[in-house]
Amino acid sequence: MTAPIVRFAPSPTGRIHIGNARTALYNWLFAKSRGGRFILRFDDTDLARSRREFADAIEVDLRWLGVEPDVIVRQSERFALYGAAMDRLRAANRLYACYETQEELDRKRKRQLGRGLPPVYDRAGLALTADDRARLEAEGRKPHWRFLLDREVVAWDDLSRGSSRIDCASLSDPVLVREDGAYLYTLPSVVDDIDLGVTHVIRGEDHVTNTAVQLQLFKALAPERAPPQFAHHNLLATASGEGLSKRTGSLSISSLREQGMEALAVAALAVLTGTSDSVRVVAALDELALDLSHVSHTAAKFDEADLAALTARTLHGLPFAAVAARLVALGVEGAHAEAFWLAVRGNIETLAGVSEWRAVVFDEIEPVREDADYLREAAAALPPEPWGADTWRIWTEALKARTGRKGRALFHPLRLALTGRDKGPELAALLPLIGREKALARLG
Ligand code: GLU
Repeated sequence: MTAPIVRFAPSPTGRIHIGNARTALYNWLFAKSRGGRFILRFDDTDLARSRREFADAIEVDLRWLGVEPDVIVRQSERFALYGAAMDRLRAANRLYACYETQEELDRKRKRQLGRGLPPVYDRAGLALTADDRARLEAEGRKPHWRFLLDREVVAWDDLSRGSSRIDCASLSDPVLVREDGAYLYTLPSVVDDIDLGVTHVIRGEDHVTNTAVQLQLFKALAPERAPPQFAHHNLLATASGEGLSKRTGSLSISSLREQGMEALAVAALAVLTGTSDSVRVVAALDELALDLSHVSHTAAKFDEADLAALTARTLHGLPFAAVAARLVALGVEGAHAEAFWLAVRGNIETLAGVSEWRAVVFDEIEPVREDADYLREAAAALPPEPWGADTWRIWTEALKARTGRKGRALFHPLRLALTGRDKGPELAALLPLIGREKALARLG
């Protein structure tokens, strides 16, 4: 197989959500695990609804997830290509003008349904003569343009759903261009997939019917070339079963980031939810590459509570190198940064949680002194520096021998005084970071 070329094609009409991230990641993982290329294509032909700031924000969200596009294209810069494709379809008698208003189309549909017929467009536009069209345009009507479908069964081998087929006789000829001249998604997508050499189209199963139509467009516009291979994955819904929408902003990648969710955890759940692969902690994105046939054929529910738990588990095993730069931004750097990270990572739920422990280790805290006599004795028994991994053991063994205390009575007053908290990371790891001078002061 030659290296694949894939594309992720959001319309920049809002921030991407976890379901969009699923599509982006399936494409990215598919291409990158096979030495291929990933195109980010903005489907921004709807100039009224598309916004550059949404496109820029989508790039930010993808990069945060670890998805770095090889190429970025914007459909709004490629209208000439779509115009040329329209000319070719017209020359091949596959394009025709229609003049019905939305209300007229609705009435036709209702009549068909009333007679028990499928609501398929009756191709009235195809029967119009040049005179009819001139008359309609003189009335001020503007045409929309439909693609004349071959009334045949279109079949393909879907990399996710297996053998798939759609009878195009049951579909209305799709509108390619609206009466205001705007291209709908169907045609530009195919023109770009041909022009950019896309080999695999991986997208949500809401596009299955489009695929039949688009396969006919591929054949009409590039008969000499094999069309891309298709894979349609199931869609993510919320835990209560609602669909996700860019417009409502629910489960947007930016909101998850702002809540402190880890990118690797978001990616792991976006990819693995609703598949036969089990959800797991990963240390790098490429560990998530999966066989598209493992995606299940029913809707997948995404539970935010799972994400919080996976974020915590991801942090608990994250190596220092993977987090060092982000720790600097939280004021943790220098010689002790790695030891600090290894000491506290198991005690945080989000990365922002390190701030609390940074204060305990490197700043001042309010010690809690419950048993002043014991703490005085503990201070007197503190070993001399240099301190290391066994300082805590040496110190507490000495204290045990001197006081006869053991268990909680031995350890807990020390934790309260040294950290001001009644639980937290192993004191064996914290103590050398706190240092003798601070420890003495906190013991009182
Ligand atoms: N803009 C389309 C969407 O967001 C792209 C679908 C496709 O991948 O072809 O649904």
